[in-house]
Amino acid sequence: MTETNYDIIILGAGPAGLQAAIHSARKGLKVLILGKNDKSSLWWAHIENFCCTLEISGEQILRTGQQQAESFGAVFFNEDVLKIKTPDLMDLSGGGFTVTSETKEFKTKAIIICTGTTRNKLGVPGEKDLFGKGVSYCVECDGNFFRGEEVAIVGGESAAAGGALHLSHLASKVHLVSNEFNFAPELMEKLKAADIIIHEGVEVDEITGGSGVDGLVFKDGNKLDVTGVFIELGAKGVMSLAAELGIQLDESMKFIETDKQQRTNVPGIFAAGDICGPPLQMAKAVGEGCVAGLSAAKYVRKA
Ligand SMILES: Cc1cc2nc3c(=O)[nH]c(=O)nc-3n(C[C@H](O)[C@H](O)[C@H](O)COP(=O)(O)OP(=O)(O)OC[C@H]3O[C@@H](n4cnc5c(N)ncnc54)[C@H](O)[C@@H]3O)c2cc1C
Repeated sequence: MTETNYDIIILGAGPAGLQAAIHSARKGLKVLILGKNDKSSLWWAHIENFCCTLEISGEQILRTGQQQAESFGAVFFNEDVLKIKTPDLMDLSGGGFTVTSETKEFKTKAIIICTGTTRNKLGVPGEKDLFGKGVSYCVECDGNFFRGEEVAIVGGESAAAGGALHLSHLASKVHLVSNEFNFAPELMEKLKAADIIIHEGVEVDEITGGSGVDGLVFKDGNKLDVTGVFIELGAKGVMSLAAELGIQLDESMKFIETDKQQRTNVPGIFAAGDICGPPLQMAKAVGEGCVAGLSAAKYVRKA
């Protein structure tokens, strides 16, 4: 790949980035996508709630999306972005943004940030091996698979409490587990009214099982016999780039704030997908990606 100048650079090869690429490249613009599609949250997922597709693997969606974007002329480069420099007002060549990846430097007139979120890990034995076999990081995505079963949700913030309430409509019994709870007392009352079993002041030592989860072991040696463990420690966005660029975050300081055209407060920078906040779902990511792609194309045409 020798080209270094683009109209639009998209950070992230997940569904938001792919949809943004498809819509902007079809406008005849030079579009580069930086990022790794196997690092998308979707890669390991099985999707059954996306309109007009009955059941499809995340990997299949991402591979097809890349081919589709390439067919419209978008270029993929499998590296992460390490740094973005805003246009130098003294540079009369109108060079735009400078984007530095792991090994290269690029110039672009507009940027779309679609970097998704990192799901925080618990870091205990069993978590990695049993991921997808009863361990999940997404109540909204996987809760339905645990209908009528006894499950635990680990986390002390409001995201975990909300997840527990959601699961209480599906599972036969829900345990909410944390060292410390950090949400409004009213929410705790709601949890109790929903018959959620609260385990406060406990730390998880291990998730056990073989072909599937069969338990959650605490540091004090007690064990819960559960078939599902949801880890909801809060979603953390890729915020350091945003902070460096002066991009406005939302009130939670975890997500990028945009308007309805997916514009951030920095002219020429757009954002879409999980990085813009919940619901962390593919349908929202592609919707926002479409809008961001079209908005960025309009911006470049006027620039
Ligand atoms: C286990 C699991 C199951 C799920 N199931 C469902 C489901 O059933 N239905 C549903 O709708 N949703 C589901 N989701 C959620 C769905 O995957 C996300 O909402 C969706 O992938 C968000 O798309 P995105 O493009 O915003 O971010 P992502 O898909 O996470 O993509 C982020 C991209 O950004 C790249 N990136 C990160 N940092 C940088 C950087 N510095 N520079 C360049 N690139 C960078 C990554 O490499 C990646 O390519 C599930 C998620 C998980 C984890």
